[in-house]
Amino acid sequence: MSKNTRVKIGLEVHVQITSLRTKLFCSCPSNYRGKPPNSNVCPVCLGLPGALPVVNREAIREALKVALALNSKINKLLIFTRKHYFYPDLPKNYQISQYDGMGSLPIAKGGFIRIENDSLSKIVRIRRINIEEDPGRITYPTGSIVTSPYTLIDYNRSGVALLEIVTEPDLESPKEARIFISKLVSILEHLGVTNPELEGAVRVDANISIEGGERVEIKNIGSPKDVEKALQYEIARQSAIVKSGGSVNRETRHWDKGKGITVSSRAKELEEDYRYFPDPDLPPIPISSDLIDEVRSTLPELPGDRIKRLMSEYGLSKYLAHVVVIRSKLLADAFESAVRECGNASTIASILVNELLRWVDECGITIEEGLKRLTTKRICKLVRYLKEKKLSSKLIKEYIKKIITEDIDPDDLIGKGYVSIMDLEYLSNVIEEVFKENPKAVEDAKKNPKAINYLVGQVMKKTMGKADPQLTYELINKRLKENVC
Ligand SMILES: [Zn+2]
Repeated sequence: MSKNTRVKIGLEVHVQITSLRTKLFCSCPSNYRGKPPNSNVCPVCLGLPGALPVVNREAIREALKVALALNSKINKLLIFTRKHYFYPDLPKNYQISQYDGMGSLPIAKGGFIRIENDSLSKIVRIRRINIEEDPGRITYPTGSIVTSPYTLIDYNRSGVALLEIVTEPDLESPKEARIFISKLVSILEHLGVTNPELEGAVRVDANISIEGGERVEIKNIGSPKDVEKALQYEIARQSAIVKSGGSVNRETRHWDKGKGITVSSRAKELEEDYRYFPDPDLPPIPISSDLIDEVRSTLPELPGDRIKRLMSEYGLSKYLAHVVVIRSKLLADAFESAVRECGNASTIASILVNELLRWVDECGITIEEGLKRLTTKRICKLVRYLKEKKLSSKLIKEYIKKIITEDIDPDDLIGKGYVSIMDLEYLSNVIEEVFKENPKAVEDAKKNPKAINYLVGQVMKKTMGKADPQLTYELINKRLKENVC
């Protein structure tokens, strides 16, 4: 793609309101995960004839929280709309959603989120926020709609409350899209509306067009990283079509995560295909100013303010404060809880950002699981051992790896001999041995200080990585100077 090709990206982010006890229009539990298929259902969410929906009032409060946090304008009348389509994941053949037009309104319109990183600071406008119901889940037993002889359908998820947050096409690169989703999810997490670590809690549809081409929608992408990858792929695909003189068709595609490509799924429906009209089973609900004020008074500290506070209160760099807050609220909570208990903010931030996140990513576990092992207590033990020089900065990495992968307490590791070698006499003896075994390297090191690192390496090898590298370097340097005369 040439650098000047203009890319326009708009997102529709679907977020389950996981804080609710029950589904959006019935009293079935909102938590459907891990249950036998079709056991978390009732006549309403199965769409049986005559069953009538009743709105979950808590869902409205949660949606209002989000609207206020995103600076959106709340509509004073809540109207639900039927969005018609024939597909087995919705037994009624329509989804209860909200629409802007045809006598309907979404719960909120307008608003914005500011996205930032080192080189970027921009406003992304929000077009609207809808409340709607989640469809059921479809499974193709042999993996694909084309090859599977039959389809399995599970309605446990059907009717779970979703928020659909739609942006204007203000995003100009896949990276901006990733940063936007991370920021949005962090806001929702701080509001307590959703738990993004739950599989399927956040799903994204991305609209993308490049200059001179039609808009293509990529459906149902599961994570900010995958959104970035899918969009990168799509820009390359569309650019190649335009370059070869073809034209990009308006269509819906889906992201094949395994293959890392997007695949055409159908021609895009037009708005009028959905035959929207206000749901006659759900009378409009007035949203009073009192309710809005009351919800506003419950809003917690949001990520933007929290980042600023971590910088001013604990002296964190912008980068560290940003990662700690945006990557996960749990990480920011763990950071603040450990600092309250044992101080040393920058050491703790570095333990969490450089070590915990590394092992979480490498082992494919959630941050929540990682923090169950690397608890506040254990973090503070590590900080204390570092201060008492029982641990070197190198060895602490090994400790954290063992804590996270094997759930071992730092005290037990110290007991098993995972101790930093600060014993000067012992270390000097090891250095003596290394000098005897490597006379040529010693001669090199006398002439060229850079060659000292080889000797440090030999000492680390003999001590199984337990020696403090800085101290070892200093001792070797001293020993070399003694030898000069
Ligand atoms: Zn139900």
